[in-house]
Amino acid sequence: MQPRRMCVACRRRRPAAELRRWSAGPAGLVPGAGPGRGAYVCRDERCERKAYGRGGVARALSWVWSPVAKRATAGTGD
Ligand SMILES: [Zn+2]
Repeated sequence: MQPRRMCVACRRRRPAAELRRWSAGPAGLVPGAGPGRGAYVCRDERCERKAYGRGGVARALSWVWSPVAKRATAGTGD
């Protein structure tokens, strides 16, 4: 049985393998596993856009966007 995680954009619970993990490390908000807190977003463009645009990931981590995150989301705002 796989662990299930909640997407911070659509709030659906899915197997962790279907989600992308973001973590807030010393260098900023980065995709992948990290030592800090993690947030999960579907591997789906709409969910990712929503999560970044609405501060879903950042809010889930109680974290402020870094220049790194802003670069990663450039051109995806609506
Ligand atoms: Zn989602």
